[in-house]
Amino acid sequence: MGEDVEALKRRLSLIEYLWQCNWKGSPVGRSEFVGLCPLHEETKPSFYVNTRKDVFYCHGCGQGGDLIRFVELSRHLSFRQSFACLDLQPRPAVDSAAVLEQAATFYQQQLDHYPEAMRYLNRRGVHDPALIRELEIGYAPGGSLRRHLTAQGHSFDLLRQGGLLNVNGSDAFYQRIVFPLRQGEHVVNLYGRSIGAAFAHRFLPGIKGGLYAWEKVRHYPEVIVVEGLFDYAVLRQAGFQNVTCSLGTHLNTDQFRQLYDGSRTVHLAFDVDANQGGQLAADQLAHRLGAHGITARRVLLPEGQDPNSFFVQGGDARQFQSLVEAAQS
Ligand SMILES: [Zn+2]
Repeated sequence: MGEDVEALKRRLSLIEYLWQCNWKGSPVGRSEFVGLCPLHEETKPSFYVNTRKDVFYCHGCGQGGDLIRFVELSRHLSFRQSFACLDLQPRPAVDSAAVLEQAATFYQQQLDHYPEAMRYLNRRGVHDPALIRELEIGYAPGGSLRRHLTAQGHSFDLLRQGGLLNVNGSDAFYQRIVFPLRQGEHVVNLYGRSIGAAFAHRFLPGIKGGLYAWEKVRHYPEVIVVEGLFDYAVLRQAGFQNVTCSLGTHLNTDQFRQLYDGSRTVHLAFDVDANQGGQLAADQLAHRLGAHGITARRVLLPEGQDPNSFFVQGGDARQFQSLVEAAQS
């Protein structure tokens, strides 16, 4: 049983369970959230969740413990019943979080060893080492992930199912800059940007998760949404903290809900491309958000540009800020 409990907790963290139950918590510090206690009536938040230790504590009712303890208390179940009902929760397609985490770490370790990868990042205007570390940007040279992960004890089947390997057993990501996509603490997918001639954008199969790094920005009264992670990276580097990324112009249900769940102004800084795809998408999204009572404005970049090229071609934070301020609803 003890071993099963550990396996369960690796699969489902307390904070993920709470998000699933629609608990609303705000970040305090690097690995803590606070919100209203689901276990007793209160008007001032005193329920703390430590995501590193995977435990909660409420200063109001004095209850505390791990995920199973939380289920025992909130659903009035015994330990065994709580475990059983959590164990029935749908499992992710693969026991993927751990293997994705290791793949992301491996790719991160490769970055410094491949000058072509660093050259590509510089060409896209990303050069701050602290930001590269924070975003956990890595490089998939191709041809070495399989060996690395099988040496860690992961089966070929698991790597295949998770999409890290192609049908023929070769690495799925080949010469790509890699950004891990996290939901809470867990890596749910990897985004790979080709630095060569291959198809530019790739994700692994499965969910992309919500808006990128949403926990960091959800409390800002004004939020900037960009399409791509290179847009995101240059804006962060230029000092914009209130920026998130939708990983494409089509938002999934979770991402859309995140934007209207709370009152805020949304600035959509999508690509201004020749076929108007980005602007059309921004227009539609602004209307949909408007229907949910959210003010959404379109940031109009110069013709043919996206936030990334704007900065790469010499635009600065002040200029971008004036575009944001001039944004049209
Ligand atoms: Zn409480």
